[in-house]
Amino acid sequence: MNVLIMGKGKSGLSAGRLLEKNGYSVFYYDDREKSEIPENVNLVVKSPGIPQSHPLVKYFRERDIEIVGEVEIASKYTKGKIVGITGTNGKSTTTALVYHALKKLWKGKVFIGGNFGIPVSDFAPETDKNSVSVIELSSYQIEDLKDFKCNVSVILNITPDHLNRYKTFREYAQTKLKLLKHTEQNVILNADDQLLKDFLEEKDILTFSMENPADAFFDGEKIVVKDFSLPVSSLPVRGYHNIQNFMAALLILQSLNINLRDAVSALQDFKGLEHRLEFVKIVNGITFINDSKSTNVDSLKKALLSFDKVILIAGGKDKGIDFNPIKNLIKKRVKKAFFIGEMGKKLEKLFSDVTETEFKVTLKEAIFSAYDAAESGDTVLFSPGCSSFDMFKNFEERGKIFKQIVEELK
Ligand code: ADP
Repeated sequence: MNVLIMGKGKSGLSAGRLLEKNGYSVFYYDDREKSEIPENVNLVVKSPGIPQSHPLVKYFRERDIEIVGEVEIASKYTKGKIVGITGTNGKSTTTALVYHALKKLWKGKVFIGGNFGIPVSDFAPETDKNSVSVIELSSYQIEDLKDFKCNVSVILNITPDHLNRYKTFREYAQTKLKLLKHTEQNVILNADDQLLKDFLEEKDILTFSMENPADAFFDGEKIVVKDFSLPVSSLPVRGYHNIQNFMAALLILQSLNINLRDAVSALQDFKGLEHRLEFVKIVNGITFINDSKSTNVDSLKKALLSFDKVILIAGGKDKGIDFNPIKNLIKKRVKKAFFIGEMGKKLEKLFSDVTETEFKVTLKEAIFSAYDAAESGDTVLFSPGCSSFDMFKNFEERGKIFKQIVEELK
């Protein structure tokens, strides 16, 4: 059987190794190299970064050759339970929360991966019937699932993102909703999400809500799950959105028959992830926060909701997202904003009637200017709301540079 791996990234190479070990003849194609396409391709494994509109994808589709993703392939070799986690924002944090608790409480091997950075193919051969794999799924990865089944899944939220790849928000949402079909036991949904509201009555759905009673809900002070409750002041992570992520994690753990009291005590030392509302430093009373992973308007909104007197640094690659919905919030929370990158000039203009705005060419200039503009008690919040590829290799590099420059401030 001849398999063509399209995209020689981390996940493509990992799928190739797994298939080779299992007796397939594996060939590779990458746009960055001039690769020959072998004859008689029986199966194509497409990297999530390659759009459905790619000429080669169309070519194979016209010839009825099966095209799947790395997660689909890996899942055929994954034994034990699988947890699938998706959403526009909060995937990595929720994945890490669930993994952190299971590592301490699950009686068997525990794995983490998928969009989290470790291809599922890397660990699939090590799984057994007692193990559990916690898999973060991006919408691109969900697109290429076929027979994949997880035991428990969660859709955290669906808000506008990736509109440069999907024609409409609806199309993007439908991709995420496809995960419902790939789940056997429980699907956990955010009951406050406009798009998810239509699905709450379906079988085996569990819900979480910040507004109304649900399987897990926030009553203004506590998280309540049946007769169990937990004051949010004792959560190991801060921010409104993290209450949602925490509730989702608890429902996942409950579906895996983990006792909630044990889960909460296992999560007490969870540290939060780098580049997500990460506290960097206080300089002369000014707090610096690195939220470089904020790559869309909703994550920027959630960041703004977490602080009061904000000097904002935002901007980056243009993905076609509308920033108008957060104008009021900017007006309320942001004393001054500095914008960078491809979106910089647009955002400078858009928000100029609700706060003081300035465009800066480099991140360094933006940071120094933000520091000058800030007073003791303010927060300099770097929450770009856009992806990083216009000026940086990725969000990790962007966040690391932010932190390095902040370290230079006197
Ligand atoms: P993802 O893996 O989906 O990108 P992360 O956990 O890495 O999610 O967080 C990405 C960004 O979104 C960060 O800026 C973070 O502060 C913010 N965020 C995290 N959880 C949520 C949520 N439930 N809703 C909205 N924004 C969130």
